[in-house]
Amino acid sequence: MSAHPTLSGGERTASAEIRFHNTMSGQMEPFVPLEAGVVRSYTCGPTVYDFAHIGNFRTFVFQDVLRRYLKSKGFRVIQVMNLTDVDDRIIQKSAAAGLSIREYTDKYVQAYLDDRTALNLEPPEYIARATEHIDDMVKLIERLTKKGFTYTSEGSTYYRIAKFPAYGKLSKIDVAGMQTGARVDMDRYDKDNARDFALWKAPKPGEHFWETRIGPGRPGWHIECAAMALKYLGDTLDIHSGGVDLTFPHHENEIAEAEAATSKKFVRYWLHAEHLLVDHEKMSKSLGNFATLRELFSHGHKPSSIRFLLASVPYRRQLNFTPESLQGAASSVERLRNFASRLRAEKFPEGSSPEMAGRALRAKEEFDRGLADDLNTAQALAAIFDLVRDANTAMDRGEFRQDDSAVVLTVMENFDAIFAVLRDDDADKLKALGIAPDAPTISDAEIESLIAERQAARKRRDFAASDRIRDELAARGVILEDSRDGTVRWKRK
Ligand code: AMP
Ligand code: ZN
Repeated sequence: MSAHPTLSGGERTASAEIRFHNTMSGQMEPFVPLEAGVVRSYTCGPTVYDFAHIGNFRTFVFQDVLRRYLKSKGFRVIQVMNLTDVDDRIIQKSAAAGLSIREYTDKYVQAYLDDRTALNLEPPEYIARATEHIDDMVKLIERLTKKGFTYTSEGSTYYRIAKFPAYGKLSKIDVAGMQTGARVDMDRYDKDNARDFALWKAPKPGEHFWETRIGPGRPGWHIECAAMALKYLGDTLDIHSGGVDLTFPHHENEIAEAEAATSKKFVRYWLHAEHLLVDHEKMSKSLGNFATLRELFSHGHKPSSIRFLLASVPYRRQLNFTPESLQGAASSVERLRNFASRLRAEKFPEGSSPEMAGRALRAKEEFDRGLADDLNTAQALAAIFDLVRDANTAMDRGEFRQDDSAVVLTVMENFDAIFAVLRDDDADKLKALGIAPDAPTISDAEIESLIAERQAARKRRDFAASDRIRDELAARGVILEDSRDGTVRWKRK
């Protein structure tokens, strides 16, 4: 069985062995899925009680890079993402708003899906809403009860962690000496409060509940993901991912639930993304230091800059978010887009140069090596920017040949299959979200038509008119670059 059944791009290059850091072993491990050529992957999605912030999107972008990378290596990816549309906070907030859970969460589900589209996050094969899987959760709890892993107290059902000796193996907590029978009802708690946790919670007065075989109530958070993962992906998944804060208690409890029920290994590779920080603190709703995507968009930041920034820092490194880093990401994307347009539009001397073909191949291999090394996106990007620099230099020196364009473009397309930032469609994305950025914008079509007007002015040697158009574009944030072959490239400031 091969970890990389096909090579993208047609030509045979040495493909690096894929290695991921597995939280369970604490080690880098070669990645080989259970079934050759297929990856079964579960992604913890958002809790839809509010708009997701860009910290959440750091993790979601990582999951998208992971998915796209595996696909680019020829795997068929079956990805399941849950939407947690019932939990403690949702129950409270929907009751406070006088809305049903469905009415309350629908708005945030839609916002989340629209935000994903804006960031070019590919849709997973299955998007599973917790409230549509109550029966699967009840069935899983019944299985656990049959095997003696549960007990009830005041109408709620709890998981007896003393019955599962491996409890703590993911987060490495020591449960020895813990008071047997101590319980926790909250969905989120810390390691110091490791206890028997609620699988099914009895309704409090006025709360929404489901009438089921195990009594009236609602599910705990952890049983949601365990039940949906088992339902769509089978007893053993290849990859389960989320942010590091989910390691405990969420993923630890999912393991306890799934493995107790199936007596099989639940997950083969656990991948956890480090946090996005603001001023060196985790971005979170509770700290109030968060920015939603829409806030950033309405301040004039582009979806592509945000995607690029979030993808550019390897997922196991913390990412300290600053306005400067966003500006830096915007100019990186611009540089890449300008380069791709140059490859597509500029005319070079006929023929091909063996040096450039070799240079492109080296960049592709280095890009591949970076990603194969636990998705080291920084290394992969460095390979691309080195190629951009070298190719631009060759072009400026007249050493770049027409047939080199296609070769280098293939490398850029291979890059973009994963980073997905080259298409200049930010304005359309914002429009689709109904967001008008604060800064005045000018459409691509308008820019092109002003450039054509300026070209015509230059042709009739009306340099005053040509300069006027250049100045007008500059005032509207567009910079022109005249190439030696007479074509004009442009970019936004
Ligand atoms: P939640 O909606 O709270 O369930 O979180 C959705 C996802 O975002 C989970 O995978 C979290 O681990 C992740 N997450 C939350 N805050 C951050 C952050 N500041 N940086 C990175 N990921 C985060
Ligand atoms: Zn989950």
